[in-house]
Formats: sequence, C-alpha cells, structure tokens
Amino acid sequence: VSSLELTQHFLGRIKQEDTRYNSFITVTEEEALRDAKAADELRAKGEATPWTGIPFAHKDIFCTNGVRTTCGSRMLENFVPPYDATVTARLRGAGAVCLGKTNMDEFAMGSSTESSYFGPTRNPWGDNRVPGGSSGGSAAAVAARLVPAATATDTGGSIRQPAALCGVSGLKPTYGRVSRYGMIAFASSLDQGGTMARTAEDNAMMLNVMAGFDPKDSTCIDKPVPDYTATLNEPLKGLKIGLPKEYFTDQLDSEMAQQVRAAIGEYEKLGATVQEISLPNTHLAIAAYYVIAPAEASANLSRFDGVRYGYRCEDPKDLLDLYTRTRAEGFGEEVKRRILIGSYALSAGYYDAYYLKAQKVRRLIQQDFIEAFNDVDVIMGPSSPTPAFALGSKTDDPVKMYLEDIYTIAINLAGVPAMSIPAGQINGLPVGLQLIGNYFDESRLLNAAHQYQ
Ligand code: GLN
Repeated sequence: VSSLELTQHFLGRIKQEDTRYNSFITVTEEEALRDAKAADELRAKGEATPWTGIPFAHKDIFCTNGVRTTCGSRMLENFVPPYDATVTARLRGAGAVCLGKTNMDEFAMGSSTESSYFGPTRNPWGDNRVPGGSSGGSAAAVAARLVPAATATDTGGSIRQPAALCGVSGLKPTYGRVSRYGMIAFASSLDQGGTMARTAEDNAMMLNVMAGFDPKDSTCIDKPVPDYTATLNEPLKGLKIGLPKEYFTDQLDSEMAQQVRAAIGEYEKLGATVQEISLPNTHLAIAAYYVIAPAEASANLSRFDGVRYGYRCEDPKDLLDLYTRTRAEGFGEEVKRRILIGSYALSAGYYDAYYLKAQKVRRLIQQDFIEAFNDVDVIMGPSSPTPAFALGSKTDDPVKMYLEDIYTIAINLAGVPAMSIPAGQINGLPVGLQLIGNYFDESRLLNAAHQYQ
C-alpha cells in the first residue's frame, strides 16, 4: 500500500472510533495527507527509510511546529509552538507521518488521563475503564488500532502503566537516552520520552529514530545508539532474571501475581534462570517521588504566568492579579496540588527536612538497582497493581491514584530503562509484565520482549 492509503485508513479509523475513546486532542488531517504524499514521492525515488510514510501520533507534550500543543491543560489550550521538539524533528526527518496529538493527564500529572482539560480518554478494552496515564491517549490510540505507534513520556510510570492497562508495549528508555528538548517539562530529573506500539519490534524501530545525543538538552547523553532491531532475535539462554521480593508480597493482587509468574515461567522455558533479589528501599519510592517530582514541577510551571505565552486571564487589574487569576483559571486541581506541595517542600524552613531527605532516599533507591544488576541481567515484576480501573473510582482520593505507580516510580528515581509488555488478562482486561534493565541496556529489554511475544 502507499503511504497515502495507509494514512487515509488510519485517519478514517480515528474519525469513526475516537468519539468513543477521546484519545486524540488534535487530529492533523491536512498535514498528515500532505506528508504522506511527500513520503510516497520519496519512496518512488527509492529514497525511503524504514519510517518513510509510516503513520504515528505524538503525545501532546511534544512541541510540534505550527501544530497546537496543549499538554492536556487549559493553560496551553491555544499554544502553537514555533519550533519542533527534538523527538518531533527526528521522526519528521525520518519521514514518519504524524496524524495528531494524543490526550494526556494535565502536564502529565496523573495515572488515568482523567486530569486532562480535554476530558478523559476511555480504555478500548472495557466500557467505563480508564486507559491509565498520563500517556493514556497514546496507549488507547495504539490499542484501538487508530495508529500503529505513538510517542509517550514517563516521569513515574506514564508509559508503562497505560501500556499495561491498554494491552500494548511501551518502553521508557534510560534517563538521558532520548532528548527532552521541546518536551514540556514536568519533573526534569525524571522525565523521559519513549515509545508505545503493539510489538517490541515496533518499539525498537521507533527508538532507533528517537534516541541519541542532542546538544540542546544538557542531560542527554553522548553515547552511540545501537540498532535496536539487530538484537531482537538473540537467544535468551542463560539470561538471568531477578524477581524483587518487595514486588511479590501479599499486597500484590493474587490473580495479578499468578499472571506475572506465568509470564516469567515462559522465560524459563526459553532458557532463562530466575532468582529472588531484593530492592530493599522500594517502600520509600512513592514518598520520595512525591517530594521530588512536585518540587521540580513547582519550579518548571512557574513559567506559565500569563505574560509570555499560554492562557491569560481577562482584564487583569494589576500584575499580581494577572499572575493569580491566570494561574487559578489556567491550571487544574491536580496541577495546583503539585505546585503547593512542591513550593512547600522547597521553602527555606522545610528544604532540608523534605527535599534534601528525598534526594538522599533517591540515592539509596538507585544503589539498590546498581547492586541488583551485579547479579542479574533483567528484573521482572508487574507493571501496575491492578488491571484498568473504573473511571472516577480514584479521582476523589489522590493517594489511591499515586499508589498506581508503586511498581514503576523507583525506576525513574534510579534512571534505569524499563518496558511493559502484554502478559495475559484478568476478567478480559490486559495485564502488563514489567522488564527493568541496567543503564543503557534497552537492547536487552527489547530482545527479551520480542522473544516473549
Ligand atoms: N502518575 C505519576 C504522577 O502523577 C507519574 C506520571 C508520569 O509518569 N508522568 O506523577
């Protein structure tokens, strides 16, 4: 098929189905058709790369030159960036065809896509179920076959948890592997862009384009990018898998534990060995994250002041009124909660007690992973504590929502890469298996994921 036909097919599916899912905030039909035609011309000339003419979608956190980028917020409802994020530019340069921007929790704060100013996304697997979050739009769009692949971001689990809840595969690379330039910042020391698609191979193909050094992001690491598709078929014989005892406790739902253990059993059949390991500081991860992430968020979000860009309140009477009303009207409830927590933790009298303490805990958590990877190649466990939950069931209780990331958050604090892949179902809802790797060992995760699938 031509890229134009492929693009028309997926645009048609979006038009037909997305009124049900609300997985897109913006659909860029005109631009997509134009890019598809250009891709077909390149293909005719024999100048195509693997991505030329392939449709995909961007999480609405990546700046797209000339295309509205909202980050799920009223604050950026009408923001049209004058530049591309590095990830956007790379996919564009590879000839991929962007069909639009996917829904997300406001400023990526959430685990259900319910904090979006543009309304919640629905999980294609079940009526009235959340898709997870914050990259719930990308996960639902891939699961509903509205796009073959999508970009996503993960600060505390926002790629892996929605991938798990929607039955697709998602990869959060090592911190620093993918440039954050032009990716709207939530918590800069934790944010990492990554991939979402049906298969490990598609994730590998995407990462091939997205990964690599970028002088515009000072935390992006200058390290050669391997061809992630080249090692997908390596045999797994002798692969050492670690199961953290802290992940398999009574608190893990028994059906969930059964599914995850069954999936790990498949790896043993493929020649891997399994051993118990310990990540002793796991229980501190959520608490440390909910100091560090809001602290960084409170600083990052100070730029939305109604002066330079984004939402501005009507008829401000003076500068203070402009700031106050712009932010009161432009930000949603969860974002405000994070700004308050973060400003509190960073304030002079409390800095040492909260922020500094959390940073020390973070180092202990990182050390847990470094030590574990002296003994094993991959760590496995659940991606989420439960399958997709009902819309509205956790919105009144932020702590319940925060606990959704109990298996994913420590990975961001450590900065290591991790993936979620589909591994069975409970009552017709998908379950995710999480694969955690050592720094820059994305190839091994993709290899292991590919062999399972
Ligand atoms: N759910 C977590 C939070 O709300 C993580 C979100 C994310 O990874 N962007 O902060």
